[in-house]
Amino acid sequence: MRVVFLGAPGVGKGTQADRIAAQYQVAKISTGDLLREAVRSQTTLGLEAKSYMDQGKLVPDAVVIGLVKEKLLDPVCANGFVLDGFPRTVPQAEALGMALTASGITLDRVVNFQVSREDIVRRLSGRRSCQKCQATFHMDFARPKVNEVCDRCGESLVQRSDDRRDAIEMRLKVYDEQTAPLVRYYQERGLLLPLDGSGTVQAVFQHLSQELAPYRAV
Ligand code: AMP
Repeated sequence: MRVVFLGAPGVGKGTQADRIAAQYQVAKISTGDLLREAVRSQTTLGLEAKSYMDQGKLVPDAVVIGLVKEKLLDPVCANGFVLDGFPRTVPQAEALGMALTASGITLDRVVNFQVSREDIVRRLSGRRSCQKCQATFHMDFARPKVNEVCDRCGESLVQRSDDRRDAIEMRLKVYDEQTAPLVRYYQERGLLLPLDGSGTVQAVFQHLSQELAPYRAV
């Protein structure tokens, strides 16, 4: 299974990518997670990426393309992968296409998650994330058992700096300008799978998992 999860911030790509990766035993590659890890570890790449991320802007293509190419060569991807949040620009999509062709493989599907703007803003502004294990919670829909503490690892929860109101607006603008053209890009290549992401996590997962079942490893 080699799939891309496409959609505006807050549509649920990351949550569904975790579940699909676990169900079908494939790797989840989230550029957002990789970049946040680099920021936490204060690597050169992380220091460069931080200011873009805090403002809700895209990190330069060359940086993320390098990260993803390295990850795709990792043996954990041998059984397949879910790309979450990559590609986000046409040059990234082209670089991905070339990297896969060079390895003699192709994408199976590009899932386009669709959720209304109103719901996206509600989802993002109430989101709380674990700094350590990246688990996500929501102040209204998925509260942790203990306030502000991660159920999974016990670390304290934080609001991502880019989940603040001004950064959310910037991220949506960036999505419209730079990422939305990928819908047409993948439609033209016959890969696009539109998916209603507005239901509960479980309902969306059931639907998605049925759609992706044909691509599981045999
Ligand atoms: P995400 O967790 O996918 O919402 O990503 C958080 C932030 O990381 C984005 O707002 C960007 O600043 C950066 N980022 C993640 N993926 C990419 C990408 N494919 N291209 C450029 N920047 C990215």
